[in-house]
Amino acid sequence: MKPILLKGGRVIDPAPQLDQTADVLIEDGRITAVEPNIAAGDGVETVDVSGMVVAPGLIDVHVHFREPGKEEAETVATGAQSAAAGGFTSVCSMPNTQPVTDNQAAVGFIVKQASAANSARVFPYGAISVGQNGEQLAEFARLIEAGVVALSDDGHPVVSSHLMRTALEYAQVFGIPIANHCEELTLADRGTMHEGVVSTRLGLKGIPAAAEDIMVARDVILAELTGGHIHLCHVSTKGAVDIIRRAKDKGVRVTAEVTPHHLTLTHEECEGYNTNAKMNPPLREEADVAALREGLRDGTIDLIATDHAPHHYEAKERDFDEAPFGIIGLETALGLGVHELIGGGVLSLPDLIRRMSTEPARAFHLEGGTLGKGKPADVVVFDPDATWTVDPSRFYSKSRNTPYTDHTLTGRVERTIVGGRTVYERAT
Ligand SMILES: [Zn+2]
Repeated sequence: MKPILLKGGRVIDPAPQLDQTADVLIEDGRITAVEPNIAAGDGVETVDVSGMVVAPGLIDVHVHFREPGKEEAETVATGAQSAAAGGFTSVCSMPNTQPVTDNQAAVGFIVKQASAANSARVFPYGAISVGQNGEQLAEFARLIEAGVVALSDDGHPVVSSHLMRTALEYAQVFGIPIANHCEELTLADRGTMHEGVVSTRLGLKGIPAAAEDIMVARDVILAELTGGHIHLCHVSTKGAVDIIRRAKDKGVRVTAEVTPHHLTLTHEECEGYNTNAKMNPPLREEADVAALREGLRDGTIDLIATDHAPHHYEAKERDFDEAPFGIIGLETALGLGVHELIGGGVLSLPDLIRRMSTEPARAFHLEGGTLGKGKPADVVVFDPDATWTVDPSRFYSKSRNTPYTDHTLTGRVERTIVGGRTVYERAT
């Protein structure tokens, strides 16, 4: 592997609060120097990155790659390549595959596919319960041995409070988070969008915000009871943000994520029965978006995660009631962050990188998230000023289900480096 010297970029590393013009030298897969005016030695690939930002590679702790089971929507390889194109160097893939990733062999398969893909790193989640049936705990010790970094039944909530308590206690032994999709199912009652004026107008069954708030409250109570680490997936309501803020004030071990779409869109997007606006949790109201932005700004919400959920074209072409939940997000996340959150005065550039790299690494105990000397060279280079228009036909993902078609975004990934190797370079 040839050493790489990234020359003259704006180097941002939130952990040591570094933000300055400097060169970054990568040798043998690791960062070996970050300082001004590094001289290029023999055989070094020198890249002029002036005008660009050089930052620790982005980390997404919530993606759905559909292998095994629905390879027509995404495979581990296409998902990893989509991640790399979005500036992500590591992602954590949810276990709601078919069959469910709830045993050692299933985890081993994902690890093998990820290694063969040789692109962004893919760290599997294991299921909390066998078959994600919500009944019997999976064998956490064996799953962790095989390589899982967290546990979740995402796609479904953990309905049983007893099972959640046991899961938090058991996972605590290994020091890894339990991630929950917070939805009180009797209240959600098979709704298909947010319960509010738009669902009334469209005649669609709504999911009230309270369905999320109730389970978020339960989960932080159980985290407090057990001392375990609860990670709350895709927080979407003002009420949930308030509950998490109070729990953090009390010292409960809770971390939380928010998606780019919940930070930028509301239930109005469902007008016209737009199935690319159908997700779970659903897009909410202006007041929720404002609360999520404030929660992200003040650290109540730790990190941004995409909930990248590929679906085949035909599935999303069904009626709104019948179409599956979810949208893809890996290739639009950074552009949305720069355009909407920095452009909207919510975050600074270093704050955005903190929420998309440093904090995900910290919450999930992953390497990366920093450009520290000797660390693995997982790096993103992006142009913070470039604007571009979303054209799904150019996505590396196998799927096209995005509500952002034709949106103009700011911030374009130029190069993604994983372990010292360039895995994505923008075609010019
Ligand atoms: Zn979910």
